[in-house]
This record gives sequence, C-alpha cells and structure tokens, in this order.
Amino acid sequence: MEKIENGQAATIIEEQQKVCKRCKITFTPTSNNSSACRFHPSFFVCRRHDDQKRYYELGPDDPPYAAKFYDCCGAEEPEASGCTTSFHISYDNDA
Ligand SMILES: [Zn+2]
Ligand SMILES: [Zn+2]
Repeated sequence: MEKIENGQAATIIEEQQKVCKRCKITFTPTSNNSSACRFHPSFFVCRRHDDQKRYYELGPDDPPYAAKFYDCCGAEEPEASGCTTSFHISYDNDA
C-alpha cells in the first residue's frame, strides 16, 4: 500500500506573476507564449499618413495633422489592440 505524504502531493505551486514591459499586462511564465503579448511594434503618431499607406481619410475641413494612428498598422485608437503578437517581456529578462 502506497503511503502518500499529506501535503506533499497537493502542493500548490504559486507562479510568480510578472508584468510585461511592453503591454503592462500581468502574466505568469507558463502562460507566456508567442501569441500572449499583443502590441504595436511602432509608435502612435500624429501626422499625415503616407500616400502609399492611406488608413485615414481626412475630411475636407480636417487639417492634415488631424490624423493620429499607429505607424505600424494604421489603427487610429490609442487603445486599439496590438497588430503583432509575441512573447511577453518581463523586466527581469532585461538584465
Ligand atoms: Zn506583453
Ligand atoms: Zn499596430
């Protein structure tokens, strides 16, 4: 008959929660995968779109600098979910 030591078998491993340097979301290392982190690889800019990359149609009364968007994908909301996914980056990994 097997003897199970009480407490040993049911040890709950508390995962260390980390904060992603990029998206500021709390994550655990085991939940981190190549699609866990959604972000924009480029900056949110305030300028006119390149003519080749027209994501924003300016109205007739809009000044040309009215366009605000992510340079990477053209998302026009600062809160727009990322267009790229990758692993979360923890502050610990920086060293
Ligand atoms: Zn992240
Ligand atoms: Zn983007």
